[in-house]
Amino acid sequence: MRMADAGKGRMRLLGVPWDANSSFLRGAAQAPGKIREALKCDASNAWSETGIDTGARETFGDVGDVEFASGGDWFAKTEDAAGKLAKECKPIFLGGDHSVTYPLVSGVARKFPKLTIVHFDAHPDLYEEFGNNRYSHASPFARIMEEKLASRLIQIGIRTMNAHQREQASKFDVEVFRCGNEVDFLEMAIEGPVYVSIDVDVLDPAFAPGVSHREPGGMSMRELIRHLHAVPGTIVAADVVEFNPERDMDGMTATVCAKLVKELVGVMGR
Ligand code: MN
Ligand code: MN
Repeated sequence: MRMADAGKGRMRLLGVPWDANSSFLRGAAQAPGKIREALKCDASNAWSETGIDTGARETFGDVGDVEFASGGDWFAKTEDAAGKLAKECKPIFLGGDHSVTYPLVSGVARKFPKLTIVHFDAHPDLYEEFGNNRYSHASPFARIMEEKLASRLIQIGIRTMNAHQREQASKFDVEVFRCGNEVDFLEMAIEGPVYVSIDVDVLDPAFAPGVSHREPGGMSMRELIRHLHAVPGTIVAADVVEFNPERDMDGMTATVCAKLVKELVGVMGR
């Protein structure tokens, strides 16, 4: 498919090549480049299943990556980039490990202070801290909820909840759907702007082996797409995180991530 390369679209990609807060393996910082390659691959056309042409310049653009090479404060750089972009368009962020969602949501919340977050993940990522790191990729949603950057957090696909995270979920009133449990978005009556965060390990490793934490018993790609298409309200920003190209097999997971980006454009551009 072809992807418009200029930063003009209603939806725009921003890469966040950062994996320093990954507790187990590095590698997710290479994801944005690999996902872009997969998006440009001619094996598929540019249309989303919902009928949006993601190859149209006015629909979808790419503003490149947050620049970390020169050093400085990774958090502020990420937060500022997200805040600026959210004022101009509906950004789709490519991680990076899941720690990036904290500064990204913080940036988006400058424009949209009452976000509902719909979070797809095998893991709740609610640890108070992990490995003495409060910015760990296992902790972003604890920080987001502490700082009240979102008014609602809905987690879908969870299958690794331990006692500590159960306490955290009840402390922050998180709405948790274990993997396989029915999610009725209509009944949830979501109001206001929505931020969608997709940790690709929500998928079964059979569909997405290129992740640092393979957790069997996950969603099929079709189940995830069905959920995505059903998210109500206005999605104002989204991220796709935790793809680790070093763990991928034959580019399978890169293709999965590119498809997720297309379908995100397909629901955000409705
Ligand atoms: Mn995860
Ligand atoms: Mn995660």
